[in-house]
Amino acid sequence: MLMSGPAKPLLAADSDRERTNRPPWVDGDRMREDFEALARIGSTPEGGIGRPTFSDAHFAARTWFLARAEAAGLDTRVDAAGNHSAVLPTRRRDARVLVLGSHLDSVPGGGRYDGTLGVVAALHVLLAFKQAGTDLPFALEAIDFTDEEGTLVGLLGSEAFVGTLTVKSLQTPRGGRDALMAGLRRAGLREERLLDARRDPRSLAGYLELHIEQGPRLEREGVQIGVVTTIVGSRSFRIVLRGRGGHAGTMPMDARRDAAVAAARVILRAQEIVISDFPSAVITVGDVRLEPGAFNVVPGVARLALEFRSQDDGELDAIESAVLARIRAEAEAHGIGLEVIPVARWQPSRLDPGVCDAIERSAVGLGLTTKRLPSGAGHDAQSFAPVTPTGMIFVPSVGGVSHDPREYTAWGDVVNGLNVLIGTVDELARAD
Ligand SMILES: [Zn+2]
Repeated sequence: MLMSGPAKPLLAADSDRERTNRPPWVDGDRMREDFEALARIGSTPEGGIGRPTFSDAHFAARTWFLARAEAAGLDTRVDAAGNHSAVLPTRRRDARVLVLGSHLDSVPGGGRYDGTLGVVAALHVLLAFKQAGTDLPFALEAIDFTDEEGTLVGLLGSEAFVGTLTVKSLQTPRGGRDALMAGLRRAGLREERLLDARRDPRSLAGYLELHIEQGPRLEREGVQIGVVTTIVGSRSFRIVLRGRGGHAGTMPMDARRDAAVAAARVILRAQEIVISDFPSAVITVGDVRLEPGAFNVVPGVARLALEFRSQDDGELDAIESAVLARIRAEAEAHGIGLEVIPVARWQPSRLDPGVCDAIERSAVGLGLTTKRLPSGAGHDAQSFAPVTPTGMIFVPSVGGVSHDPREYTAWGDVVNGLNVLIGTVDELARAD
């Protein structure tokens, strides 16, 4: 049982806490009820979750979160970017806020743990400190950020919160401009007010996020807690290839400028370049649309969604110039018109070494094994890293599966993650 937690989770009452001088560790049963209540909202027949941003299920999950926080006696708020918060105030005057966040939106056909785990855990950290009556030097704010997954924009809520969301990024959003406008209308949000969600970085004491690893490394190595050191950066582009459409029966092969064939070349060349020249990076064409799209018509247009990721900003530059140059050369050589539309750029983020140490101390204090590792997936934490001390805790994903209904983390590992999060808050409180 490599993944089992500390032998006996501790439930420290007020007096207990004073005597042992330990954080209010919890057993996680109450959290499990909440986690499962959320897993029922937007549940799919496959056992996963479908809660794309501003879908009915997403609204229902967010409403559930606020109601649960209010019922527990926490303050709640919703900001101009639709971020939903539960707040545990501190008695200290002019105190800063330690933000604990993640997201309740999901990819279509996603899993139960991605994002949801971090929001429920954040809520239960507030409840644990509230119940223990601990006088922390900062307020705690548990946040469900808007549109982390990028149904519309990606990291929309957390970037608005830290002030890096730009008017420009709203012009060519990942999900398309029409979807963004329709979504904002449904949510009762106004585009021109999204940037008002910004908080002064000086008001922040730091940022912590608990998340599933979404990869296989912790499980493979039998490690219980991942301490995230960096979050990869990524760049994405829409690539439009224009050839010449025609009759699939009468147009001779040597007269064709087939957009589908051009798309196939682009996909293969891009992959070859990254595999041979940038072995630690990844590149993906995640969507291909052919027009008009029929058995008997040579495709005239192909639209591709291209994305690549690396831990190093210089490497992202190098991949961008190598891949785009190759795509241009291929298009030119085959008489294909080319349009390259930049969609999103996320810088790689280095998380705070001091917070990494605090996470590690917290885990080791609970008798848990740890490993430092980078995150290949994007997270709200990357929005915070440039403006406030930021840390991220990973718990193992069985089989490394994520963005899939089979996403699973053993409950003992979830409870370990929750207790490490509580312990890290305690560590930061001592250092404050
Ligand atoms: Zn996530």
